[in-house]
Amino acid sequence: MAHLKLKDRALGSVQGVLFDKDGTLSHSEPRLIELADARIEEAGRQFSLQGASATMLQELDDLLARTYGRCEGGVIPDGTLAVASRHHNLLSTATVFCQMNLSWPQSLILAQEVFDHVDRHRQTLHPDGDPIELLPDAARLLRELSAAGIICAVISNDTTEGIENFLHQHHLNDCISGLWSADHHPAKPDPGAVEGLCSQLGLTVENCALIGDADTDLLMARQAGIGLTLGYVAGWHREPTLTAHEHLISHWSELTATKDAMSKA
Ligand SMILES: [Mg+2]
Repeated sequence: MAHLKLKDRALGSVQGVLFDKDGTLSHSEPRLIELADARIEEAGRQFSLQGASATMLQELDDLLARTYGRCEGGVIPDGTLAVASRHHNLLSTATVFCQMNLSWPQSLILAQEVFDHVDRHRQTLHPDGDPIELLPDAARLLRELSAAGIICAVISNDTTEGIENFLHQHHLNDCISGLWSADHHPAKPDPGAVEGLCSQLGLTVENCALIGDADTDLLMARQAGIGLTLGYVAGWHREPTLTAHEHLISHWSELTATKDAMSKA
């Protein structure tokens, strides 16, 4: 166990900290902007090939932008693209295609084609995975927690491969002891995801903290019975609206960790 401190406030002792990834550890917004725009563009191209009018193409563009949470200046921090899994985004996309008068089977097939096309293109651009920046001071914090004996883990709706690429790019494998991705069952935001990750690492849920940038993360953690829920609000161009936190973090420099006196003995 080690002590967490947020600015001058003692938060108590924790055994482990579970971190969300997108918008919490990683500056994901630029990549998500590109992803939203690429999927919208490819969907437009596919509908155009099928003879859609300019009015229909504009409607499609507007519907997809609102569905993904693509807004002026970025993406909405608690929108579908920022929070939901790839599978849920695919279903959202197919639902938009239904609103454009395609059948559900046609919509699912086309949504899959759009996602696959964009993935192939991005894979060509970034064969080692999308380069994503860390948020300021995140690496220092993870190393400090790890040095204090706190077990750190990532709980994300990204794929296992996406999380591993991110950790590898930033040389964080040595301070992250485990991960729970969209490939695990149950995935976020099921409270079973928190229980599964803690169990995998031999951690007691009540002795852990979870830090995330979305209410879905924080509510999931509370339902799982976690000891401490912290909201991180500095990962997006606009601050996420959170309600289920105990404390808010506006910069990673605000959070520090020290070994418990007992641990030093
Ligand atoms: Mg997030």
